[in-house]
Amino acid sequence: MGSSTKHIFITGGVTSSLGKGIIAASLAKLLQSRGISVTIQKFDPYLNIDPGTLNPYEHGECFVTEDGAETDLDLGHYERFLNTETSQDNNVTTGRIYNNVITKERKGEYLGKTVQVIPHITDEIKKNFYKLGETGKYEVVITEIGGCVGDIESLPFVEAVRQARWDLGSNNILVIHLTLIPYLAAAKELKTKPTQHSVKQLLEAGVQPDILVCRTEKHLPMDVKKKIALFCNVQLNCVIEAMDADSIYDVPLLMKKEKLDERVMTKLKLTSKSNTELEQWKEFLGKLKNPTQEVEIGLVGKYVSLPDAYKSIIESFTHAGASLECKVNLTLISSEEINADNVQKKLGELDGIVVAPGFGERGLVGKVEAVKYARENNIPFFGICLGLQIAVIEFARNVMGLKSASSTEMDPETEYPVIFLMEGQKNLTQLGGTMRLGSYPCELTKNTKASVAYSKPKISERHRHRYEFNNKYLKEFEKHGMVASGKNPEGGLVEIMEIKDHPWFLGTQFHPEYKSTVLNPHPLFVRFIKAAIDEKQQK
Ligand code: GLN
Repeated sequence: MGSSTKHIFITGGVTSSLGKGIIAASLAKLLQSRGISVTIQKFDPYLNIDPGTLNPYEHGECFVTEDGAETDLDLGHYERFLNTETSQDNNVTTGRIYNNVITKERKGEYLGKTVQVIPHITDEIKKNFYKLGETGKYEVVITEIGGCVGDIESLPFVEAVRQARWDLGSNNILVIHLTLIPYLAAAKELKTKPTQHSVKQLLEAGVQPDILVCRTEKHLPMDVKKKIALFCNVQLNCVIEAMDADSIYDVPLLMKKEKLDERVMTKLKLTSKSNTELEQWKEFLGKLKNPTQEVEIGLVGKYVSLPDAYKSIIESFTHAGASLECKVNLTLISSEEINADNVQKKLGELDGIVVAPGFGERGLVGKVEAVKYARENNIPFFGICLGLQIAVIEFARNVMGLKSASSTEMDPETEYPVIFLMEGQKNLTQLGGTMRLGSYPCELTKNTKASVAYSKPKISERHRHRYEFNNKYLKEFEKHGMVASGKNPEGGLVEIMEIKDHPWFLGTQFHPEYKSTVLNPHPLFVRFIKAAIDEKQQK
């Protein structure tokens, strides 16, 4: 191990969706506010190498890091809470672990041994557990184990956590188990049995949790806490209540009140170096909870029944809205339900329209109608990735008169491929990790909405797409009033398009939502909301 990094493992029990990611991010935030350098990593028990090839309906949005890793959406929470970047190393799946082990086996690196789950898979898991700590950058590494203890697929991870206690020594490791204390309304009782069972499963695997974080909708009375402590073999003050919160951003303060960070500091023998950052956090919360105005924004996309599919966009609106003391009422609107006849009815009440990222041709007609409506009615418009591409298609068709213009993604034979596949992308047969991914530089054109928003000439933003604006048509677009306000300095790829003669109409080929954090709301979201506020005042 060779490093002095302390490791905190967070497991979950009873049910999924208890918010391990938010608890991990909140604890990290509290440690960060004490001057401790901390990062969070997520280990997911599924067999996909990464979530890049997963339908958003499976696990929600795919979050993209600076270095172009397609990762679990919890990494988005980590970045938004901590205001620090994560990387490929912060998200490991069972698929990646097996892939590494099998690759080594094929190279003969196991010297003829039988390759087995224990020790080879667990060794590979542990190697990845320790990797970020070994960079020397972090005093504490928090590892969130996806899924629930007791699931067959989680077993090798739990076994690796058991072994980690031996590797690291008990002063350097802490296991926090997140569990649920359900309230039975008929019996008027909080029930501890599911938690007892879930801890028992951990104990059977040889892992004794040090701290229990108990999700609950009612306060836990002392006798309930005592019962949990006794039956689960943890100290009474390590039974932490986690009441349902109004906002995920309340959780760090709730956890501070419950002294989760204090327990962690004591158990890991850590000393605080400062106590500053939460002031800004509280200021953000103050603004979030006391808005002075509100706007109606419609997010047009195809995954509307699962808001997690648009997690980073939704959170970006929360950050930017709070900075303006503006409540953003975001409505998800299915693009498949919009057509030329109902568009006024569907979008007429909105102060701003966003067309979301996405893949494939489903809902194309509705998205084009939404763009057209925003453009013609001077409603602030923000297109993100596919949203930009749709804006370009709509402009080509309805302003430039290229009626059959399209993207080759939706119409490979289109006469006017205003969005197309770049040469390098054409012969790819593999799906995972083959898009333009991660951070790329972009130069802004002076006196544009983009350069006003960023107030600097050079930016860098994260990408996740295959198709690009076809520069062959750029002059024509600019002649008609849609200009490229951001370009990649090397190849001249168009990164931002905007319409000059419109209150605020802008689309980005990149995904600004991946870089918005609580302390750094994204300037494009801020400007878009400002434009929506102006629009509302004019109505
Ligand atoms: N489907 C489009 C492309 O691959 C847009 C992708 C996206 O919105 N992330 O270029």
